[in-house]
Amino acid sequence: MKIRLENLTKKFPNRDKKQGDFVIAVNNFDFEIPDGKLVGLLGPSGCGKSTTLNLISGLEEPTEGKIFFGEDDVTQIPPESRGVGLVFQNYALYPHLTVQQNIMFPLQNLRGAEKLSKDEMKRRALEAAKLVQIDTLMERKPAELSGGQQQRVAIARALVKMPKVLLLDEPLSNLDARLRLQTREEIRRIQKATKITTIFVTHDQDEAMSISDLIVVMKDGVVHQIGKPQEVYDHPTNLFVATFLGTPSINVFNARVQEEQLYIGKEAVLKTPGIADSNVIAAIRPEGFLLDREGPFTLQLDRVEVMGRDTSVVCGHEASMSDVIRAIVRTDSVVDEDKDTVRFTLIPSKVHLFDPATEEDLPFTL
Ligand code: ADP
Ligand code: MG
Repeated sequence: MKIRLENLTKKFPNRDKKQGDFVIAVNNFDFEIPDGKLVGLLGPSGCGKSTTLNLISGLEEPTEGKIFFGEDDVTQIPPESRGVGLVFQNYALYPHLTVQQNIMFPLQNLRGAEKLSKDEMKRRALEAAKLVQIDTLMERKPAELSGGQQQRVAIARALVKMPKVLLLDEPLSNLDARLRLQTREEIRRIQKATKITTIFVTHDQDEAMSISDLIVVMKDGVVHQIGKPQEVYDHPTNLFVATFLGTPSINVFNARVQEEQLYIGKEAVLKTPGIADSNVIAAIRPEGFLLDREGPFTLQLDRVEVMGRDTSVVCGHEASMSDVIRAIVRTDSVVDEDKDTVRFTLIPSKVHLFDPATEEDLPFTL
């Protein structure tokens, strides 16, 4: 089921009128979520992710705009008739019910022609439980489950009505780091197996990047960029997207272009054909630095951190807009830690220039 948002806007009245009459939680969203894909809604806390999901599920009414499921306008359709499965961060299982009863719960409210026999409900609950691999735990109570198992019960409960759309709002936030990794792989597997169009909300770029077919990067109720994770990472349209994606984060410098050369401080560090003479913001991915004794870019060497596969060369520079600069190099490369400085050559595709006024991307090609 593809989903289309058309000029979708949600304003909430502001309690503190000094901040304006309204908070625009979702500002004129206009994009399509393709059928059968997993889409990550990504952005910092408060950017409107939950509101977007609530609009799609019908729990909130839009101030303006429309929502289509396939060709059907569902904007006025109540949540229970939209065929969506929902999983929240606080998945709140019923503590006095068993796993089986928790999963069956949404089926018990079906009335009229949709009403199911007890056996049919049990059969469907078992099917959903198998999908998330908790079918051996059906008689347990939530308190007898680990956090990851509880979250799977919540997912099974969302799947049991065979929804056309699955909406997951920060479903992994309550899990510890290892379980979070496991469960996100699990969500990906379930989504691929069921092919249910799924929207996955997170503030964690790593999570969104690793499992999504498409990511929607948002800030302050505004969509900044939509694309395949790697495309967005490689071609951020503005400084916010560039800094929000990637760990360690991109290194940002005050810089200028003169005669098609990028200057950071006094050094000409890269050719930038097609860019007019101007001040720019230069952002360099940690993997964009190549150790090079003869390299054009000199940084103050602070320390070297070896972390398994990679070595992080932590540096400083007077033009840096971030506290530290991190260059990721291979562990077998040699950095002379006794020196005060270290020199690099830059990989052009890992360098992004932005207009300091608009923070929009200034493309150049080598
Ligand atoms: P996210 O899920 O990305 O953290 P939300 O969608 O929850 O963000 O919130 C987006 C913005 O809308 C925030 O500024 C939030 O304070 C505001 N907001 C959300 N729900 C309400 C509400 N019911 N009343 C007033 N403001 C709200
Ligand atoms: Mg939220």
